[in-house]
Amino acid sequence: LLQATSLAKKFGDHEVIKDVSFSVPRGTVTAIVGPSGSGKTTLLRGLNALERPDSGIVQIADVSVDFAKIRASRRGRLGSADRALLRRYQAHSGMVFQGHNLFPHRTALQNVTEGPIVVQRVPAAEATENARALLAKVGLADHADKFPYQLSGGQQQRVGIARALALEPDLLLFDEPTSALDPELVGEVLDVIRQLAKEGRTMVLVTHEIRFARDVADEVLFIDGGLVVERGRPRDVLDHPKHERTQAFLRRLL
Ligand code: ATP
Repeated sequence: LLQATSLAKKFGDHEVIKDVSFSVPRGTVTAIVGPSGSGKTTLLRGLNALERPDSGIVQIADVSVDFAKIRASRRGRLGSADRALLRRYQAHSGMVFQGHNLFPHRTALQNVTEGPIVVQRVPAAEATENARALLAKVGLADHADKFPYQLSGGQQQRVGIARALALEPDLLLFDEPTSALDPELVGEVLDVIRQLAKEGRTMVLVTHEIRFARDVADEVLFIDGGLVVERGRPRDVLDHPKHERTQAFLRRLL
């Protein structure tokens, strides 16, 4: 479903992503792990073009973006063809953020219906029906009319997941979805993600929850210094890491 080739990104002189290639088959879960500052979030945001890579190519489903070309044509603003291409590209993936990023003055239900109604022009009645089903799916059927401040962090994060699902993306991207939560709320969010994995959703998640990554991921990418240092099945990378940097990272977590 996703094929990323030679992604690179600099902030000033700092090469945060150096030459990252990987692919994500449809129906699989990829976990990105690595030390703080290694470039995990930048890579994930690159996959959604929230943070455009400087170069590299990403193909998601039928849309392929060559970021070097997009960059070359940028003089202040993108051309209309590039903007349209990026919109089509972004429509294939949905992002769940570290904090939930919900609209504070809208109910849980309205947060979930907003995207479909505004972006996809789905009729309100249909969007509402879908949103109720999605809120039920994440265990929040009884909380649809509450505002974010009336919900716990874990509940807010589950609304964030329902909101991403509402746009029916092929690919779900999670950026440390539990790292802003109190420890007792982490489990309920991980359970929802685990359920989505069972349903065969294609997901890429940046996570510090190594045990969870071992449980749900089909493939683990260990990133350090903007490079994929090691990749493979969780039990290989996380239980029997070959690379010294992976070993050191995992030792520090114990
Ligand atoms: P963490 O696990 O701590 O979230 P990470 O692996 O996700 O870290 P990134 O957030 O991708 O790492 O950041 C990688 C590096 O890029 C860091 O040194 C960070 O300071 C830098 N960086 C990230 N975003 C920007 C930005 N918008 N401008 C400048 N530097 C940035």
